[in-house]
Amino acid sequence: MKYINEFRDAHLVRRVVDELSLITTQHWVIMEICGGQTHSIMKHGLDQLLPADIELVHGPGCPVCVTSLEMIDKALAIASQPNVIFTSYGDMLRVPGSRQDLFSIRASGGDIRVVYSPLDAVKIAQDNPDKQVVFFAIGFETTAPANVMSVLQAKRLGLSNFSLLVSHVRVPPAMHAILSSPHNRVQGFLAAGHVCTVMGYWEYVPIAEKYRVPIVVTGFEPLDIAQGILMTVRQLESKRHTVENAYPRVVTYEGNKPAQKIIHQVFEDCDQKWRGIGNLPMSGWRLREKYQAYDAEHRFSINEITPEESMLCIAGQILQGVKKPVECSAFGTECTPEHPLGATMVSSEGACAAYYRFGRLQ
Ligand code: SF4
Repeated sequence: MKYINEFRDAHLVRRVVDELSLITTQHWVIMEICGGQTHSIMKHGLDQLLPADIELVHGPGCPVCVTSLEMIDKALAIASQPNVIFTSYGDMLRVPGSRQDLFSIRASGGDIRVVYSPLDAVKIAQDNPDKQVVFFAIGFETTAPANVMSVLQAKRLGLSNFSLLVSHVRVPPAMHAILSSPHNRVQGFLAAGHVCTVMGYWEYVPIAEKYRVPIVVTGFEPLDIAQGILMTVRQLESKRHTVENAYPRVVTYEGNKPAQKIIHQVFEDCDQKWRGIGNLPMSGWRLREKYQAYDAEHRFSINEITPEESMLCIAGQILQGVKKPVECSAFGTECTPEHPLGATMVSSEGACAAYYRFGRLQ
């Protein structure tokens, strides 16, 4: 197949679902890691097409959702400072911090700009030498290459007014955390194709082996996801647990080696706080000491921050596949996309937003 609409062909999806119905003999719980896949599943009604015994739960792969409240509050503190241009992807502007969001800082006069690439932020720094320009570098492995490129570009240009506020997270430690939890329900994973485009899928092999779970790398179109579910269920039904690739048009076992090389040149592993989940050892990336001059946390002195999370929000349990958005007492009442209490209701990849937008109300 060559064109995107072929991956949305309802007849082909139906054939895959029919095969799933034939081979499924018991209840299976499968987690799609990525929020982009969650939205695709809801948008195309895949969850409603599947055999009743296949239960999909929604993983932590939404960068906006898992950026810690403490880091959001740090972003708000930096963005409030005079002489700062704070740049970010658009989704982050509405994510609630403890008391405010970036939109409200902008409404009260802060210079906050939406960019589509960290390299746009580097250009803003070039054009505004009298200002400090900060880019909010959040995300999984997918966004890391562009973020490290921005640091290397700023260094090459000799810019001393550009820095990153880094809150990077990685998928494999999150999978370990989910699978080793006493509350775990996940029996198989759909791994995120864009993350694996960068990192390959070699890191998942020991996870599949250790926890005896099938992991299938897949994409974001309905046929990709249906095929990924079919391959996962085939493994579950035959008691196999290997890593398979349902997205070979994009993903290779080794991934993008040059991208991995520059990531590790600029970033090093570190413990990371995940919103709603907590601190996961060695689950993030931070700038190496050699690049400390580009670290906004190092550049700006920020008073100690004590974040205050909504008592109602159960996003942490949703992101670990323990609960569904409709099990939250605030879903669709106190918490809506217009008035979100948690990041999973804000983000275009958030599970709560997907349930609300596509009408999964029970
Ligand atoms: S519906 Fe709102 S309050 Fe409930 S878990 Fe989702 S984001 Fe949090």
